[in-house]
Amino acid sequence: MADHKVDILLIGSGIMSATLATLLSQLAPHLSMWMVEKLPESATESSNAWNNAGTGHAGYCELNYTPQHADGTIEINRALAINASYEVSLQFWASLIEKGLLTAPNNFINTTPHLSFVNGEANVAFLRRRHQLLSAHPLFQDMQYSENHQQLKTWIPLMMQGREASNQLAATRVRYGSDVDFGALTRQLIASLQNHADFDLKLNTEVTHLKQLKDSRWRVKLKHQVTNEVFEVEAGFVFVGAGGGALSLLQKSGIPEINGYGGFPVSGQWLVCEKEAIIQQHHSKVYGKAALGAPPMSVPHLDTRIINGKTALLFGPYAGFTTKFLKQGSFLDMMRSIQWDNLQSMLGAGWHHLDLTQYLIGEALQSHATRIETLRQFYPLANAKDWQLKHAGKRVQIIKKCPKQGGKLEFGTEIVSAQDGSIAGLLGASPGASVSVQAMLSVIERCFGPQLKTDAWQQKLKALIPSYGQSLIDDTSLLHQVRTHTLGTLNLQ
Ligand SMILES: Cc1cc2nc3c(=O)[nH]c(=O)nc-3n(C[C@H](O)[C@H](O)[C@H](O)COP(=O)(O)OP(=O)(O)OC[C@H]3O[C@@H](n4cnc5c(N)ncnc54)[C@H](O)[C@@H]3O)c2cc1C
Repeated sequence: MADHKVDILLIGSGIMSATLATLLSQLAPHLSMWMVEKLPESATESSNAWNNAGTGHAGYCELNYTPQHADGTIEINRALAINASYEVSLQFWASLIEKGLLTAPNNFINTTPHLSFVNGEANVAFLRRRHQLLSAHPLFQDMQYSENHQQLKTWIPLMMQGREASNQLAATRVRYGSDVDFGALTRQLIASLQNHADFDLKLNTEVTHLKQLKDSRWRVKLKHQVTNEVFEVEAGFVFVGAGGGALSLLQKSGIPEINGYGGFPVSGQWLVCEKEAIIQQHHSKVYGKAALGAPPMSVPHLDTRIINGKTALLFGPYAGFTTKFLKQGSFLDMMRSIQWDNLQSMLGAGWHHLDLTQYLIGEALQSHATRIETLRQFYPLANAKDWQLKHAGKRVQIIKKCPKQGGKLEFGTEIVSAQDGSIAGLLGASPGASVSVQAMLSVIERCFGPQLKTDAWQQKLKALIPSYGQSLIDDTSLLHQVRTHTLGTLNLQ
């Protein structure tokens, strides 16, 4: 017999678990829930504001979401899908504000124009074409484009200092892009959940083992990190929202759906400037083009961040090689994740991505001076003394079986769930927290199918996310309606 019984067990207290718990508590307030976190505080791994870039990924500025093919054509479908997914998050957060479950929007989300910035003839031609394609779609109709230095000086004054008039430059800009403090958002969601009698947050508590019982429920072993007490909880549904720890927990669950999956961790670092005179001259998130050989998640960007009400400038990320799956993890994480069922995928992906490993080691060994050189491509007059290096979170990229190469590396996010819907977990980290609402809706679709079909759940979801079940990519009038409402409610105008 387990020591405790709950309906829902959420492993990890990051943005994913907090979002799923909030959705479920709105849909079925009678469900009892435990959220279990091994660290002393919630949202201190990837969801913490300093561990991620805080970009509300909407496809406005990230050039890797609109890849250019060898024949010169530009693919925009991924940018459309990510933009529509982000609109789902904005609608959910706006509804929670209206219900009083989140406090003032500017405690976690702030308007920060999103820009893409390039130089050189070929890159300018790419950006011009990208703008033509995207701005023709209603989702991106407000995107501005300019090659004019005077205009660029008004958009990005700091970055235009020290540039020659003859430099061929171009930028696009969406003025209502956002900076999100995902740590603050997660803590607010959890604080609101704690007002429910049937919700319990267990900090300092690590999940060490999971076993499925004959009736399909799960018996989960927990260990208190301070007292070393070991106890068990029985749950009807388990969500593995453990970030970099998700792969190993899904492996421990023994569900066949996780077979063949592996993980490749990439660490991140930022240069951070807290000097007021410099910060005052930049108010946007400016993404450039990734360096040759760089993984898509290390596209350089110069960002305004608003964390705990304080503004800072951040540049990066500089990717690096690591074997840890969590910032507070172990250097043995990667080795321990290798099993018979994923050996082939791990070896295959490793062999075909030796160049990436080399690139990451090179990045990790860079000097401060070399990092400042990269920053100067964005901010030519940057002074090394004004910038300090900070460590960001870890992103564990997904490795999957691939008939051709044995294994392949993927840079997206994926939900892995058992066929009986009793357990699900999230792997990968991109576009990450921005699409947490869409990702958690997919968990509900997979694991709560019969309940989701009821009128009660459909109506509640429609009230929380007015576009639920419809396409913001295809329905222009619905898009205008929800965007006007969310930008107003979240104070992003
Ligand atoms: C450098 C970097 C930049 C990023 N930039 C962006 C961005 O600009 N925009 C964006 O949208 N996304 C971004 N992301 C991605 C985003 O941060 C993540 O997708 C998101 O925070 C993941 O949330 P999570 O809840 O899954 O994981 P986490 O926030 O990592 O939470 C997982 C929690 O599980 C706990 N845990 C792990 N194992 C156990 C266990 N066995 N028992 C109990 N608890 C456990 C951990 O301690 C942790 O608190 C970035 C990520 C990184 C690393």
